[in-house]
Amino acid sequence: VATATELTRFGQRYVNKGLSRLVEDVFDKGEGSWLTMKSGRRVLDFTCGIGVTNLGHCHPKVSKAAADQCMALVHGQCSVAYHEPYLNLIKRLLPMMPDPSLDSFFFWTSGSEAVEGALKMARSITHKQNIITMQGAYHGRTFGAMAVTKSKTIYSDGVAPLMPGVFTAPFPYWHHFSSSPSSSEERIRACLYQVELLLSQQSAPSDTAAILIEPVLGEGGYVPAPHTFLRGLREICNKHGILLIIDEVQSGFGRTGKNFNIEYSGVKPDIMTIAKGLANGFPLSGIVSRKELTDKLKPGSMGGTYAGNAVSCAAAIAVADAFKEEKILENVQARSKDLFDSLHALQRNAAIGPHILDIRGQGLMVAVEFASPSHSAYDPAVTTTAPEHLASRVSKRCLEKGMFLLTTSVYETVRFIPPLNISQEDLLKGCQIFAEAVEEVVK
Ligand code: PMP
Repeated sequence: VATATELTRFGQRYVNKGLSRLVEDVFDKGEGSWLTMKSGRRVLDFTCGIGVTNLGHCHPKVSKAAADQCMALVHGQCSVAYHEPYLNLIKRLLPMMPDPSLDSFFFWTSGSEAVEGALKMARSITHKQNIITMQGAYHGRTFGAMAVTKSKTIYSDGVAPLMPGVFTAPFPYWHHFSSSPSSSEERIRACLYQVELLLSQQSAPSDTAAILIEPVLGEGGYVPAPHTFLRGLREICNKHGILLIIDEVQSGFGRTGKNFNIEYSGVKPDIMTIAKGLANGFPLSGIVSRKELTDKLKPGSMGGTYAGNAVSCAAAIAVADAFKEEKILENVQARSKDLFDSLHALQRNAAIGPHILDIRGQGLMVAVEFASPSHSAYDPAVTTTAPEHLASRVSKRCLEKGMFLLTTSVYETVRFIPPLNISQEDLLKGCQIFAEAVEEVVK
């Protein structure tokens, strides 16, 4: 039996260097909120594999549904015939949709593919080519998705030219400028005005197919989009005949306390992308839209060898059932309150408070942003004493203490993405580890 050291050495030699890792270790087993690593350590998982294993690792009903499907049909190619898990999954998802008008489904494999397909659909349906995306957005690693990703340069460094026709609008995140006198509503209006300016100066409405937005910026810092901003975008889209694409890949499936985050604002998407929590770890994504729109697509224009895999669809059906049976949304509300209470208590600690710039998020998609010397232009009083790279140092310290915690892109931010069915005991344990880690790192 290979040891963790032997395995990681093998990985270091033979795995593509383009892949980075939080830790040089190897997963062994996952159960609920916990992972056991080959090194022997037991780790509380506050990453959920980046917001995927929302019902915890190896949820018994999800694993059983997948195993049963494995014995019946693994691959039913969706361009050859329908398979029942595909159709039954649609039946489960229809009542969960943020709006009953969303009644046309296409399943794919990864979130990037869903975004890629949504962009392609938007262009094909409208016969227009340009896409407006948001500053800080993350939509994936394929060429179209990469072109609309604006959270960090590493994803596309040196690989241009990307897909043309992409325009970036400012996302209303002004925490760093909180001393500025204007109210947040004024700032939101300013951002909406910037979108209108884009449409009159750079990308005419007659050339603009869609506006694409994550209702909560994920990789870009876990920043919820203000509801008035989302509603304003909807109005702009209505006014100019532009489609609104809502990317719920990370914020969907209960992550923020409702099935989909967009429900909070009441905005109706024209196209919605889903993935991650949809199948709790089995590769599955989806593009949801209105029949009236997707009827404009030519048969054969959508497809994919593994699109809507039968095992993944069977797992996703079990996820949807567990959501109801286990009252997942109620648990998200209760554990979210525990998490925010604990983080706010930490912020009130005189030694730690000044290092915390912001606590934000919704449900169990929550971030803590630390002060950073590189942000000293924004708030010198707080940041002159801030240690460097607090977020990654806190994440490392959490791991030493037995918890996985991820950072986000360019801000000094750590993100909390625990399982949605986490027990209060495990959640508070995670909060305790985090508090100790921050205390040790800032002292
Ligand atoms: N959209 C959003 C909002 C995401 O968070 C992600 C993944 N982090 C993607 C798209 C891409 O999904 P995938 O990694 O499955 O391709």
